Amino acid sequence: MERTFLMVKPDGVQRGLIGEIVTRFERRGFKLVASRFEKLPESRVMEHYAEHVQKPFFPGLKAYITSGPCFLMVWEGKDIVKISRDMIGATNPAGAVPGTIRGDFALEIGMNVIHGSDCVETADREIAIHFRPEELVSYSRIDEKYLY
Ligand code: ADP
Ligand code: MG
Repeated sequence: MERTFLMVKPDGVQRGLIGEIVTRFERRGFKLVASRFEKLPESRVMEHYAEHVQKPFFPGLKAYITSGPCFLMVWEGKDIVKISRDMIGATNPAGAVPGTIRGDFALEIGMNVIHGSDCVETADREIAIHFRPEELVSYSRIDEKYLY
């Protein structure tokens, strides 16, 4: 089954949105298979955002993402990478559709509440950056027979 890496960013944590965000993915039918609450070390930020390190906004992004604890998660389910990106909404919340997480809770591109892997290859890479394989838990949701 497909997996993705999702992370409530420091603004989302500070604003008390962890529960709201987890609830959305749980209700959609996805399964939480790993989580950790932590302030990201700089080395992991560089690895996670490797594609953006040279961009002009990176210093601001690094300061923002290390400004407080993040809530890191691995979720599992059919087509979760695409569906979770759809649920998260556009990178710039100004253009994010209402009903999406960013469209409901954010205004600024520099504080957009949540991260989600952008494709299956990125998801595998990001899961491996943040979690050891033994941290991913295997279990069944009791409603799986009604979801699939
Ligand atoms: P996404 O998080 O939707 O995958 P990107 O991978 O393009 O978006 O960018 C990673 C993160 O970097 C964004 O979520 C946002 O926090 C930050 N970011 C991207 N572009 C900008 C920008 N122009 N100004 C400030 N922060 C930005
Ligand atoms: Mg991205």
